[in-house]
Amino acid sequence: MTGQPQEVRCKGLGVSEGIVIGQVLRMHDGTQHVYRWRINDAGLEPERERFRAAVNLASRRVQSIKEYAEERLGKDHAYIFDAHLLMLEDEKLTGDIERHITEKHTNAEWAVKVVGDRLLSLYSEINDEYLRARGSDVEDVMQHLLVALSGDSDRPRDLSEDGVIVAQDLLPSAVAELDLNHARAIATDSGGWTSHTAILARGIGIPAVVGLRDFFRRAKTGDRIIVDSNRNEVILHPSESTLSVYQTEAAKRVNVGRATASQDRSPLLTADGVEIILRANVEVPSEFEGVEQFGARGVGLYRSEFLLAHGGVLVSEDDQRLAYERIAKLGGDDGAVVRLFDLGAGTLRDAGSNQSQDQEKNPALGLRAIRFGLRNEEMMRTQVRAILLAAKVGRLKIVLPMVADVSDVSRARAIVDDESANLTRAGIAFGEVSIGAMIEVPSAVLMAESIATMVDFFELGTNDLVQYTLAVDRGNDEVADWFRTLHPAVLYSIGQSLNAARAAGIPAIVCGEMASTPAYSVLLIGLGATELSMTPSAIPRVRRTLAGINSEEARAIAKDCLSCHTADDVENLVRERFSALWPDLFPPTSLPASRVVNPQLT
Ligand code: PEP
Ligand code: MG
Repeated sequence: MTGQPQEVRCKGLGVSEGIVIGQVLRMHDGTQHVYRWRINDAGLEPERERFRAAVNLASRRVQSIKEYAEERLGKDHAYIFDAHLLMLEDEKLTGDIERHITEKHTNAEWAVKVVGDRLLSLYSEINDEYLRARGSDVEDVMQHLLVALSGDSDRPRDLSEDGVIVAQDLLPSAVAELDLNHARAIATDSGGWTSHTAILARGIGIPAVVGLRDFFRRAKTGDRIIVDSNRNEVILHPSESTLSVYQTEAAKRVNVGRATASQDRSPLLTADGVEIILRANVEVPSEFEGVEQFGARGVGLYRSEFLLAHGGVLVSEDDQRLAYERIAKLGGDDGAVVRLFDLGAGTLRDAGSNQSQDQEKNPALGLRAIRFGLRNEEMMRTQVRAILLAAKVGRLKIVLPMVADVSDVSRARAIVDDESANLTRAGIAFGEVSIGAMIEVPSAVLMAESIATMVDFFELGTNDLVQYTLAVDRGNDEVADWFRTLHPAVLYSIGQSLNAARAAGIPAIVCGEMASTPAYSVLLIGLGATELSMTPSAIPRVRRTLAGINSEEARAIAKDCLSCHTADDVENLVRERFSALWPDLFPPTSLPASRVVNPQLT
């Protein structure tokens, strides 16, 4: 094939509205697929030369990460990178890789992988735990080399004006230092409506298409790309005629789809006078101004794991305190809820995660969220201290992610009490914080009554509640058809949890993505919710919807939904009843067809 590469169209799931024409910026999530190809005699020296250039590039990058880490985290943490630099300068290691290229006639990537794997297996046999854990340094260095060989960036902080982030998946720690002001769109291989990539894209208001399967492999940094979330599609190497169609369309669509600021600060009442409180979910600073702009009543959920530096390096206590102070101020009189790190094994580099944890077979069911915190107690204590100190300047609450029952709550509470006592003993001023539980796994729903006696409030994480109740991975597009937010089992679990909170006299905030979808928000009110938390830009449309409905009617519909047998039955019922009762709020085209995968309900 010569000349212009062929246009390639890939279907995925548009999870944040809009269309963007830009350039690919590939971003690695830490796992590289390595392929082998044969190098002939004449190609060997250029291949070795390519490898040497990659070593130089990787060293420069590690050096700059080290300087960045020193600035942000202090010298104590930056030493990790000295070990990486030493490895890159190690002539035995680089010599072995060059020799492998020569003797086996293979590409440099393959040689890096073979020599790296050999070294890793030596580390894994070492008896000393500390030295064994150094295996992760070998992995990091190999990763840097592979990224350098691929010609990609592993930390694109300086995005060009039209950069479209293309990744297999975007982990919170990778997002943490992205220059989101310049990211124009996101396209990822994995993910669904409730994946963090989707949540974040909607939060910062840029188009995103997820679930593209093997798009990452096909795209190269610098390729022209069109992200068309409205058609659930990305187009690589668009032809001239495709480009001109999109350029015309883009010109027409400027700013369409962006929510406008809401000036309305009056209490939100349903048509029959029930007060509903709408709060904000936030992850990264670029979302912060939306809290005030869209009239949120404080921060209902701060996903603190987005604080981690690139590569999963933990942020110091002082930096955490500053971040939580900022969140407390953002919440103002209505306060802010900080969720303790919702991390999984393998996402954090210096909290003692080891090789075997990194390779969990079932990470969603593994050492994550509150379990990870309790296992890495020092990390949790540091975070709790930072929150207690920040609570001096504003109203902060702590919410515990993914508790299974009261034992998780009491262990976490003991740590908060202990850290409060330590601060008191040391004469250091701090603020009181109340403690809530995320209700997002089936056991927490079943034990909601007893958990309610141990906490000050509930937060219902419907994203995980759908995932765990229906046993459907929320990030796996293969099973997206089974991810049914309106499944009767999910609605039943929400109703049960809200009832338990009401019986115990504690508030409950529903903070999953369900709350930000107008039709779903009506059902939540019908199930008894009075506080919802969502991405700030969703607030005006949810506000408009809830102001126009009658809560008693919503209750009657929700009750009928609970006696349905399938998600299809619920959706049919919702369609019929909503369009009959509120035709202006829900014209037929705005209601789901027969399946809600991408619920763009307005
Ligand atoms: C949820 O699970 O619904 C939730 C709010 O948290 P996250 O999406 O971060 O898991
Ligand atoms: Mg969750």
